[in-house]
Amino acid sequence: ATPTSIMAGSGRAAELGVLFKGGEHLEATHKLDTIVLDKTGTVTKGKPELTDVRSELDRSVFLKLVGAAESRSEHPLAEAIVAGAKAAGLSLPKATSFEAIPGMGVSAVVEGRAVLVGTRRLLEDRGIDARGAYDAMRRYEEAGKTAMLVAVDGRYAGVVAVADTVKPTSKEAVSRLRAMGLRVVMMTGDNERTARAIAAQVGVDDVLAEVLPEGKAAEVKKLQAQGRKVGMVGDGINDAPALAVADIGMAVGTGADVAIEAADVTLMRGDLASIADAIHMSRRTMGNIR
Ligand code: ADP
Ligand code: MG
Repeated sequence: ATPTSIMAGSGRAAELGVLFKGGEHLEATHKLDTIVLDKTGTVTKGKPELTDVRSELDRSVFLKLVGAAESRSEHPLAEAIVAGAKAAGLSLPKATSFEAIPGMGVSAVVEGRAVLVGTRRLLEDRGIDARGAYDAMRRYEEAGKTAMLVAVDGRYAGVVAVADTVKPTSKEAVSRLRAMGLRVVMMTGDNERTARAIAAQVGVDDVLAEVLPEGKAAEVKKLQAQGRKVGMVGDGINDAPALAVADIGMAVGTGADVAIEAADVTLMRGDLASIADAIHMSRRTMGNIR
């Protein structure tokens, strides 16, 4: 491609809300054969809502403890829980000794009680037996919800579930990418069952679930080692290393600043149709299609 055609291609892409950081990225994009999509905030709206609360404790007491612990976290799941607790009319006490455990959950002390919220693995690691809740958890997950276990003072105390809805444009965008010959993979830190339920709604080829934040870049490298040219699409702080190692990193424009900084392309419209637009523009600029 000539410098003139690259400039023209970049300009047309920008009109569609696809901002390439440089001409070399517009050129490289046509070689992609695999698209890895982060789930939360990329495939889904990233605005989860608290839908279910199950506890052995009094419901208000339980929700106050969980809401207070989560009020120190910036995770979208935490925001959903806090909003749900406030919507129930609860005022949340201040949590101390707060700790975020990336990809797993949070721990904090609320009114002198030790509160732990997160994955099966988090509770297992702390030696807390929550197996009695696994059936209920599985039902939430099969419905595409994210279920989190809660322990209070070292004992299982309940489950909260939140639901995040798929963006209305995600399904069509995925089928457009597949029609363009790309393999589409969804990657998430969320559990396998929730991930599969969401994946089925949008029709991706493959799912990588329960990937810890530091594991996302490694998964991209694994695909590259198989000879694939990978475009990674994400919005979160967690996605930044994977965006940086991918052949082309694409950040959702509504996402975290670090994600946008790590990426080669910013998708201003925030929907997945922009990925196909980016690839189309690159193919056209490189003269592979008219
Ligand atoms: P994603 O890839 O969807 O952004 P993360 O890697 O951030 O997911 O988190 C993976 C899992 O860890 C979540 O599905 C949840 O079960 C648990 N988790 C993460 N942060 C929190 C939190 N603040 N409160 C409770 N659970 C959490
Ligand atoms: Mg995300």
